[in-house]
Amino acid sequence: MIRRTLAEIAVMAGGTLAQGTPGDAVIRGVSKDTRTLAEGSLYVPLIGESFDGHEFADAAFERGATASLWQTDRPNPPSGKPLILVDDTLSALQRLAQAYRRQLKVRVVGITGSNGKTTTKDMTGAVLATAFRVHKTAGNYNNHIGLPLTLLELNEDTEIAVLEMGMSGRGEIELLSRLAEPELAVITNIGDAHLLQLGSRAEIARAKTEILAGLLPGGALVYHGDEPLIEDVLPELAQSGRMKVDGYAKVRFGAGASNDLYPLEMKLDAKGTHFVVNTDPGIPFYIPLLGGHNVVNALAAIAVGKYFGLDAARMAEGLQSLVVTGMRIEVSQAPSGLTVWNDAYNASPTSMRAALSLLHEATGYSRKFAVLGDMLELGPEEAEFHRDIGRFVNPYSVEAVYLYGPLARHIAEGARERFPAERVRHFEDKEELARALGQAAAASDVVLIKGSRGMRMEQVASFLMQLG
Ligand code: ATP
Ligand code: MG
Repeated sequence: MIRRTLAEIAVMAGGTLAQGTPGDAVIRGVSKDTRTLAEGSLYVPLIGESFDGHEFADAAFERGATASLWQTDRPNPPSGKPLILVDDTLSALQRLAQAYRRQLKVRVVGITGSNGKTTTKDMTGAVLATAFRVHKTAGNYNNHIGLPLTLLELNEDTEIAVLEMGMSGRGEIELLSRLAEPELAVITNIGDAHLLQLGSRAEIARAKTEILAGLLPGGALVYHGDEPLIEDVLPELAQSGRMKVDGYAKVRFGAGASNDLYPLEMKLDAKGTHFVVNTDPGIPFYIPLLGGHNVVNALAAIAVGKYFGLDAARMAEGLQSLVVTGMRIEVSQAPSGLTVWNDAYNASPTSMRAALSLLHEATGYSRKFAVLGDMLELGPEEAEFHRDIGRFVNPYSVEAVYLYGPLARHIAEGARERFPAERVRHFEDKEELARALGQAAAASDVVLIKGSRGMRMEQVASFLMQLG
């Protein structure tokens, strides 16, 4: 993590030392949260819609903060405490992170895309950690606050930083890319998450390709080659003059054989997926995750590993021991013996289809059930998106569809176009849904549970676990 004197911090953050603040005092680390703040760190009081971090400055000093930033328009700065005065604490945090990143020798991999960012970030971390000192974004810390804080976590000797870059609108990825200055920019895919804010998939593609804004000359763009929109929007970006469109290598990965990296064979077992990559046909790969979409995510990680000169056998070892963050299709068994696929972390039409395809492909189960909740933030056409998902569920492989939430009623409408009505059930209550499912499903069956984060569909999994 960052270690600098207050005088240095003031310069890097574009602020000034308050009167009496010792310029030679040293801070170790930066924190925006007094509940988790470590002794000796710099407190950054951020201002949110419903809170003002400046009100907690005393608490920060009580917990052992060495100094705090202070926005000059805020009243009553704590007296006698080391402060760095700034115009705006968020911009100061971002400037500090950018300056720190530029002082380091670290090489940065930036990862964006509609789905699969965290998974690809974890996979890339696992691949690179076989040969380098790697620091990766913790959890999902991928926005205009999380990314600068992640940069400030880097050590002087960190060799590669793997950073997730998230967004909900235009301009956000550009900001993150300019802060992080990646040498490698990865776009996992263009889906339909944030369609509400952005209006069209092309507009989503433009937003994701903003990752080129901070790309270092001589670096590479690693992107999902099955998505034509990414290449479609590049010429426009060139014209805008804000993004680089040449001076870097391009590497395409995806399911299709026209990509630089694509899978030759794929085979699921109960907990993971075996596959082979076209570039290294002799090396068996295994990931402890299910499904074709995760193999595509792994191809992105392998492309990054190749850029850094790693050989395939080594990368295969790294991927095999990958530790995945919770709720990305967690496989477990209910007391009844029923296999539960908990994919309740989030949902958009793209990720719903990926999960349903996986359910369709899975072998070794007597019957398959889908428990689906609302997909949120899809904009004016949300009803049609839900109907489409209903039509996508395959009545020849899925026994029954159980639905929860107001929008999921439209999934029911779509599903009933292909399913007999009694195999599509909508519930007002998750516990009731779980009980009905518990009665219908047997030990040799499998159930997929998925919905947007706000729907908290993982509660269905918990209820199933409690059933005898
Ligand atoms: P967030 O925007 O919430 O940070 P993310 O982009 O980091 O999401 P992950 O957390 O890696 O994405 O995965 C979320 C879900 O997206 C997974 O549970 C899976 O269902 C789906 N998913 C993952 N990778 C892909 C992919 N390549 N294509 C489609 N869906 C995917
Ligand atoms: Mg994520």
